[in-house]
Amino acid sequence: MISYPIGLVPGPVSVPPKIREAWLTDFGSSDLEADFYDLYAQNQKLVQTLLETKESVVITSGEAMSILWGGVKSALRPGERLLAVASGLFGEGFADMARAIGAEAEVVAFPYDDVPDPGKVREAVRRFRPQVVTAVHCETPSGTLNPHLRELGEIAHEADALFVVDFVSSGGGAPIGVDESLIDIGLLGSQKVLSLPPSLSVSTVSARAWSVFERVGYGGYDAYLPWRRVPEVRAMPYTHDWQGMTALNVALNAIMEEGPQNAYARHARAASLCRTMGREAGLTLFPAREDICSPTVTAFNVPDGWTWPELDAALRKKGLVAGGNYGSLDGRVFRIGHMGSQADEALVKRGMEVLGEVLRSK
Ligand SMILES: *Cc1c(COP(=O)(O)O)cnc(C)c1O
Repeated sequence: MISYPIGLVPGPVSVPPKIREAWLTDFGSSDLEADFYDLYAQNQKLVQTLLETKESVVITSGEAMSILWGGVKSALRPGERLLAVASGLFGEGFADMARAIGAEAEVVAFPYDDVPDPGKVREAVRRFRPQVVTAVHCETPSGTLNPHLRELGEIAHEADALFVVDFVSSGGGAPIGVDESLIDIGLLGSQKVLSLPPSLSVSTVSARAWSVFERVGYGGYDAYLPWRRVPEVRAMPYTHDWQGMTALNVALNAIMEEGPQNAYARHARAASLCRTMGREAGLTLFPAREDICSPTVTAFNVPDGWTWPELDAALRKKGLVAGGNYGSLDGRVFRIGHMGSQADEALVKRGMEVLGEVLRSK
């Protein structure tokens, strides 16, 4: 079995003992027991509090990609239009998904080391007249955090489009404010800040989104419609991941006990320490400006004189595992993930000391 003592991958993150223990809970009976629905309802309420929303919460089995797909399929019919606001890989991915289901898609693209400019998005929305506008809060591969959600939400709503936001890697680590940001479909994964295994997905769904889902009428494993009145109807479209639901309850309660504001501050401190120690080690940040750096993940340029596979191997030899990258950032940008259980200054300090030692060794 492979295991690294200093885990700083930007998801899936290290699962803390308390959550692993909860995972092993044996209900002793079926997932359709009343207790399970109560647990589901409790988790819905906790998510509403954490994400600051009065809209509904849906918790499904499957890794976060399942709800990105489910959201796109539920919100669009073939031939309808999706505008993907993108300053990174996940942003662009929404356009590919829309095309795959026969919808039209356009990307309003910004450099990967920057964040979207709402003015340009407004122009694109007025011209393209999409039914859906998508955005990403934290572009995990680029290490950036989009500060313009509210403005983008207003722009989408002015055009009567649904506003879909992927906050898979920031929810719980940075304030989201789903209602304040006018988010119709909010998408959160379990293996990032929540520090669970990658098997559950959490969505927020606005009343506007539900009426679009009704109009589109999509049915399928990843469809939202069958979840509309869970848990009231005491029926689910499939056997749920009840171990995950128990562990999610522990994870959400832990954030509530800490206090969401304190959790955000802990992430900000870990990120700040990571940037400072990276700079001291001679690294440069990938994002163009420090004020758009995410509190959950830091992206550095691979330093001169190193290839990423070489640096990655040297770090692993010393017990540190960081994140590489994908697409055009592959080999050029690497990442330190300090989200959830890894938003820990002592862990980040240890990791960045190892990184500094390795860089000095050459
Ligand atoms: C992790 C993540 C997802 C889910 O993608 P996987 O690559 O399957 O983990 C979606 N969106 C964002 C922004 C993410 O960070």
